[in-house]
This record gives sequence, C-alpha cells and structure tokens, in this order.
Amino acid sequence: MTTKPQGGKSTTEASECLDHDVLILGSGAAGLSLALRLPAHLRAAIVTKRDLTEGNTLYAQGGISAVLHETDSIASHIEDTLNAGAGLCDPGVVQVVVERGPDNVRWLLEQGVQFTRDKQAHGSLAYHLTREGGHSHRRVVHAADATGREVEMTLAAMVRARPNVEIFENHIAIDLITAAKLGAAENRCLGAYVLDRAGQRVKTCRARFVVLATGGASKVYLFTSNPDVSTGDGIAIGWRAGCGVANMEFMQFHPTCLYHPQAKSFLITEALRGEGARLLLPDGSRFMPRFDERAELAPRDIVARAIDHEMKRLGAECVYLDISHRPRELIQEHFPTIYTRCLGFGIDITRQPIPVVPAAHYTCGGVLCDINAQTDVPGLYAIGETAYTGLHGANRMASNSLLECLVFAELAAAHIQEMAPRIPAPPATAPWDESRVTDSDEEVVVAHNWDELRRFMWDYVGIVRSNKRLERAKRRVDLLRYEIREYYSSFRVTNDLLELRNLVEVADLIIRSAQHRRESRGLHYNIDFPKRDDAVQRSATVLIPDNYSPRVD
Ligand SMILES: Cc1cc2nc3c(=O)[nH]c(=O)nc-3n(C[C@H](O)[C@H](O)[C@H](O)COP(=O)(O)OP(=O)(O)OC[C@H]3O[C@@H](n4cnc5c(N)ncnc54)[C@H](O)[C@@H]3O)c2cc1C
Repeated sequence: MTTKPQGGKSTTEASECLDHDVLILGSGAAGLSLALRLPAHLRAAIVTKRDLTEGNTLYAQGGISAVLHETDSIASHIEDTLNAGAGLCDPGVVQVVVERGPDNVRWLLEQGVQFTRDKQAHGSLAYHLTREGGHSHRRVVHAADATGREVEMTLAAMVRARPNVEIFENHIAIDLITAAKLGAAENRCLGAYVLDRAGQRVKTCRARFVVLATGGASKVYLFTSNPDVSTGDGIAIGWRAGCGVANMEFMQFHPTCLYHPQAKSFLITEALRGEGARLLLPDGSRFMPRFDERAELAPRDIVARAIDHEMKRLGAECVYLDISHRPRELIQEHFPTIYTRCLGFGIDITRQPIPVVPAAHYTCGGVLCDINAQTDVPGLYAIGETAYTGLHGANRMASNSLLECLVFAELAAAHIQEMAPRIPAPPATAPWDESRVTDSDEEVVVAHNWDELRRFMWDYVGIVRSNKRLERAKRRVDLLRYEIREYYSSFRVTNDLLELRNLVEVADLIIRSAQHRRESRGLHYNIDFPKRDDAVQRSATVLIPDNYSPRVD
C-alpha cells in the first residue's frame, strides 16, 4: 500500500484507498456545518450512509433555540437549559452554546436558510419566534413546521458547491483505523474503513482528522420518530476505538408521534402544544393538569411518562392531541406539513383531535468530548447527536439539539484549523482483510436479532424501567452480542449486519448506564429508585472501554 497526497486515491486488489485532511462521517446539520466551516485549503470527505440529506435533521420540525428577542436574555436561556437538564448539565458548556446561539442563527441566514418571518414583528426581529416546552420565552426560530428540511437542503446545496469537499453517498463507516490498533505507542485516529453499499467493497479512508457526526441511536427502540439511519453507529464506533461514552441512560421519548397504521415515525411537533393544543384521553377528558401545573407545556419527559401511565392504566392504544379550538388559518399557516400529512390519513386537525403515542426520539448521551469536540482518541472529534458534550444533562430541552450541532461544528472546525499545521498525513495502513470470511448463508439471524433487540429495549428499557426489567434486558443483550460477534467474524459485512452490530453495542451501553444510575432523574425513571438522589448521583454516567487510554495533548 502506498501513501498518496491528500485528496488522493489509490487502488490495490484488496481495497481502494482515499486520503483527505478531514474525514466527516455523517451529513446532518452537524457534519454539513463542519464541512462548510472548514477553510478551503483543507480537503474534506463526507461519508454518508444514504443520500446526503437523509438523517434526523431532515425531519426536525420545531426549530432552533437562540436568544433573538430583546425581552429574552442569555441568562434566561441558560437557566431554562439547566432546569431541563435536572442538575446534570455542564454549566460552562451551556454558557458557551447559548452565547454562540445568535451568531449561529445569523450564520444559517448567511448560508441562505429561510426562516419564517413575523408579520407582526415581535420587537425589532423580522423572524417569528415560537415557544416550546421548558423555554420561558419565545426563542425558537423556525421555517414553518419543516425547519430541519430547510436547514438540511440549504446546507447540502452549499456543500455540493464546495470544491474542497468530496461526497461519498451510500457509504457506511465500519470502524476507525487507529495508531493503537497498528501497535504504535502513541494513539491517534488515522481514518476509517468504509463499506460502499452499492459496490459492496470496503474502502480505506485515511485522514489527519476524523469527525463522528452520525446522529443518534433511537432505532434501538421499536417505536421511534427517527429515520432508519439513526442506529447509533458513531457511538458504537467511538466506543470500540477506545472513547469514553457518557449518559446513555438518558434517551428522550417524544410524547407525540402520529398513531396510524400507515404512518411510519411521523412526529407531531411540540410547537402544537406551544400554540395551545391539549392532550385528551379517549373519552375526551384532559389529563395533563393532574400530572404537572404546566400541563401540556411541561417538559417532554413528564408529558411522555404521563401518556405512558394513562395508556397503561386504561389499556388504551393511544391518546389524542387536539388543536381544533384554534383558528383554522393559524393552524394551516404554522403547521402546513402536519396538516397536510394528517389530512392524507383522513384526519382534519382543524376539526378533530390527532391520535398520538410516545416514541424514542433523541439520544442525550454519546461519545464523550470536550469543548473543542475532541474525544479521548487524538485526532477524533464527535459532534451533533452522536456526542455527549454536557449541554443536555439528564434531559434535552426542545430545539437545543440543532443549536448544539451548529455550535460544536463551529468549535471543532476552529480547533481542526488550529491543529492542522502540526499534524502530518497518516502513515500507510493495512487494507481491509476479507480473506477469512464468506458470504452469509443465514441472513435470518440478522433480521431476527434486529426485531428481538428493538422489542425488548422497548419493553424493558423504555420510558419506565425497573431493576428486574434491566436485568432481563442485560441477559438478552449479552446473548445477542455473542451471536453477532460470531456472525461478524465469519461473514462478509453488509449494511444490515453493521447496523445491528452497532445497535447491540449501543443497547448494552444504555442498559449498563441505566443499571449504574440508582435514582430517577430527568429522562431516566426507575420504579425501584423513584426519587432523585442529589447527595450521591449528581454526576454524569461515564463508561470507559477496556482499550481506553487518556488523551495526551
Ligand atoms: C422528527 C424529529 C424532529 C426533531 N425536531 C427538532 C427540532 O425541532 N429542533 C431541534 O433542535 N432538534 C430536533 N430534533 C433533533 C435533531 O433533529 C437532531 O438531534 C439533529 O438533527 C441531529 O443532527 P446530526 O447532524 O447530529 O445527525 P443527523 O441529522 O441524524 O445525521 C446523521 C448522519 O450520519 C449518517 N450516518 C449514520 N451512520 C453512519 C455511518 N456508519 N457511516 C456514514 N454515515 C452515517 C446519516 O446517514 C446522516 O447523514 C428532531 C429530531 C427528529 C427525529
């Protein structure tokens, strides 16, 4: 194998080899913003599992939080975020992210993102601000109810026009190449092995800097608002490479996904409740005031648990969200996507309530990183939903996640730019070895284990947990890990096998983190420890892999 100049490409019989300065795994708001923030002299590659725009970002509805109105303040946004995080946010990180918010929204406007304008203009601002659960002010800028689509499409178009960024669609990262794996005394990330899904060939992608921006892991649950790509790949990949992982017990369940046999993962945004929608039981009675004085505007975890409780108590298949008492024009103007989509299923939301259920929505934990997005492995960064930065603590406040993607992409890009002059091109690395594997003759194992995993995670490690349920889940996940490891070492890799391998890894991390936390806090609720324990448990749950070694800067 020969070393090629950056941006170069060489092919051996075994594996194609690509060289770049920066390898970005994932193309959501985090990965795309990072690519756009890099200076033109750094050659970057974006590797992404499906089309460039497919990922959680595309489906984000509500918006992006930032202090943009004169009656709002940085202190108030910080306080709301800390309150939602239930004592586990890193206050320094919260401050940096909130302070960088307004500039990052302006940066999006400069890229061409069109946010909804305010006809009555609150104060001096030309953009409409909405309010979501946990926020004490209107501070969420949005593009009607399809903010993520507007952001993703705009950034993707900008990235496609960048001559220094090469895009590899339909490519899935398998694992990282590290100096430690090659036997070097000093560890560093040197690149990644990547499967070209169309050609079924594994490429060796070398880079001076690698960024995990692969999104969340909510596909580990049976019901989720996330698209199929959200299989926790970056978290599992980072963990296997030696990165610490934090707060994986804090999975956020969105209270309101459309409940309809033909609707796959369609979320009904929280902004509906912000505009006055009420949650109703099948008999038409309102129930949220019984659970929290903020009623429908209580944070997500409280609303999701209340719905879960009422559905289990009544044996109901769903509850209902009703906004039909609000003016028809307002509903159609602010929620055109939801209005049209529901109408397609025969539900006119201006006249009747929407059937809804909770679903896994957001991964608060992830790969441990510092304020520059650096992980424990030198040269490896983690940004967006894949990362644990300390912003969300035990519960993410609505619309803070897109903000986190933007801010940490900015911080990581600045750090990479600063470090670049000092970091040489990676040395020659071993190509992917397929000499001892064959094509699978038992694909059924993958399909079966995939279903089993998602079902027991939903039943035993879902919105309400118990010690016994977690033990049951742990026994099952151990068995699945054993089976998948055996299967992985015998057969050629496929997309489904790689995703399942990652999901099982992430499920194990969630269960172990949940077992470690012997209290209930934020999104983690265990009936055997129903109270919050500030005396003993007021810190993040950090898991460290066997191959961990502290980063030396
Ligand atoms: C329905 C919905 C509504 C939401 N609404 C809001 C909202 O209003 N406001 C808000 O702030 N947040 C919202 N969120 C959360 C927010 O959208 C996400 O947290 C955010 O978009 C994550 O961005 P990301 O770039 O980290 O990941 P994503 O946008 O999920 O992108 C991940 C990328 O990684 C790629 N990828 C994954 N694995 C691999 C691999 N192994 N190899 C190569 N590529 C890989 C994927 O294909 C994808 O391109 C919402 C989420 C959902 C699902």
